[in-house]
Amino acid sequence: MAYDSENIFAKILRGEIPCDKVYEDEYALAFRDINPQTPTHILVIPKGAYVSSDDFTAHASDAELAGLLRAVGHVAREADLVEPGYRILANHGADAHQEVPHFHVHIFGGTDLGRMIKPADK
Ligand code: 5GP
Repeated sequence: MAYDSENIFAKILRGEIPCDKVYEDEYALAFRDINPQTPTHILVIPKGAYVSSDDFTAHASDAELAGLLRAVGHVAREADLVEPGYRILANHGADAHQEVPHFHVHIFGGTDLGRMIKPADK
């Protein structure tokens, strides 16, 4: 799948639409999800143009890979989620219901998240 530079997160990265930013560095931008599923729900995205976790893990540089993961850890610490706990999740493709075609890691926290995930009834 080719990268669509008009996706909503590309527009956020270019500053064309606003976000509730919590962190930014050379490799990553983190902001609050517009439709939070848990009391804390933050998205961490790479600055590079990658469609999904598949694209990112296949094509990003080692520095970009490390930078994104370091940013996830930093954001979770800054959000005081280390002690109570948190969950990170990345959706890729149709079965995972990925909506936005720019790779993003969800950080969920602030409540008991239950155990793992619940598949949809088909
Ligand atoms: P996905 O299903 O692709 O893993 O998750 C996409 C996430 O992006 C959803 O949780 C959705 O609420 C969030 N989202 C979609 N559009 C926007 C937006 O314009 N701003 C923010 N902050 N989050 C968005």
